[in-house]
Amino acid sequence: METVMGTVIETGSPRETFEAGRQMGLLAAPGDIYTLYGDLGVGKTVFTQGFAEGLGVVGHVNSPTFTIVQVYDSGRLPFYHFDVYRIGDIEEMDEIGYEDYFFGNGVCIVEWAELISELIPQSAKKITIEKNLEKGFDYRKITIDVMNTKK
Ligand code: ADP
Ligand code: MG
Repeated sequence: METVMGTVIETGSPRETFEAGRQMGLLAAPGDIYTLYGDLGVGKTVFTQGFAEGLGVVGHVNSPTFTIVQVYDSGRLPFYHFDVYRIGDIEEMDEIGYEDYFFGNGVCIVEWAELISELIPQSAKKITIEKNLEKGFDYRKITIDVMNTKK
């Protein structure tokens, strides 16, 4: 496993983070899994909303509150938005049949992927969002790491 891309995007507003997500959504391919890392309130859902728009998903995308995954079928590809923040046990992923989403032909985004790290394939595209208050309240640093799992 090696890092083939470590792109950094700096944003100064929710709009810019939305736009970064939208650009990635435009490029997403069937079977892609994007994992999102970062503290509460850092912008993972804002990024996801932009991503969904890039995929052509119609209507509002919000973090699923009472379910682990929310399914959107109105875009260019099926879109599966996971937010595992409230997961109690990894078994819950089996119960919802996560493999059908992870290894299907849609696109997955997983907020709080660190809570289910043992289930995340190496091929997942890792997106980390961080604040830096020295650079302002609305500053965010978005790091995109894509691993090369090909031989
Ligand atoms: P998370 O899903 O990581 O918990 P949200 O996306 O729900 O976080 O919320 C991010 C919050 O931070 C929103 O209230 C948003 O308006 C605010 N915000 C301020 N600056 C930015 C930025 N540069 N990018 C994303 N969100 C920002
Ligand atoms: Mg969120």
